[in-house]
Amino acid sequence: MSAARASGLKRIGEGRKKRIGVFGGAFDPPHNAHQALAQAALTQLALDALHIIPTGQAWHKATALSAAEHRLAMTRLAFEAMPRIVVDDRELHRAGPSFTIDTLQALQAENPQAQLYLIMGADQFAAFRQWHRWQDILQLAIICIAARAQSTPDPAQFDAYTGHKDRFFTLQLPLMPVSATQIRQSMASGVATAGELAHLVPEPVARYISLHQLYSPR
Ligand code: ATP
Repeated sequence: MSAARASGLKRIGEGRKKRIGVFGGAFDPPHNAHQALAQAALTQLALDALHIIPTGQAWHKATALSAAEHRLAMTRLAFEAMPRIVVDDRELHRAGPSFTIDTLQALQAENPQAQLYLIMGADQFAAFRQWHRWQDILQLAIICIAARAQSTPDPAQFDAYTGHKDRFFTLQLPLMPVSATQIRQSMASGVATAGELAHLVPEPVARYISLHQLYSPR
């Protein structure tokens, strides 16, 4: 890691506090870019733990998700072999809308000495000001953003956050065009075969999708 990068991390890392990452997603299904983003966060932020949190029915996504049990099982298959990963199912047990701020507050209460890092793709960050209690999120966590095709994080975006500019970090991740929507759609229309799926999602996830016939043409 370059000296400039390491000193930047020290600045955002606030000394020797335990570092806990939080990476939420529908994971319907978890795919290769999710895995790459988790790995980039673990390495570049020197995290002690990374909580992977499948979301409940997110308030800002209109489409119905696959059953929670399938998304959780696939999330385990995709991430659990990685070091320092905790697959955290707390949002799946929450009734009603699920908000990131509630999860961050719970994690901070469980780990009072830790610094939290919230990991997301640039598409999610573009709408961050519409998130429930985003100012409180910024107080609790450093927001770590990775570029996503057609949605590159622009440092000028941070200028809008007067007084919070030191709460952002750009993760280095090569552009990966894969999305869960694309995977579901190509499976549902029969465009993607099981073999092609194996290039987009981790192998155990591809097997799980085939076994349970998720996203199959109806
Ligand atoms: P969908 O297409 O259903 O919206 P998705 O592929 O965006 O799904 P999510 O589970 O909603 O997957 O994403 C979880 C997190 O991973 C989000 O912060 C999202 O920005 C990020 N992410 C997903 N795909 C990529 C990608 N290809 N590159 C960078 N970040 C990504």
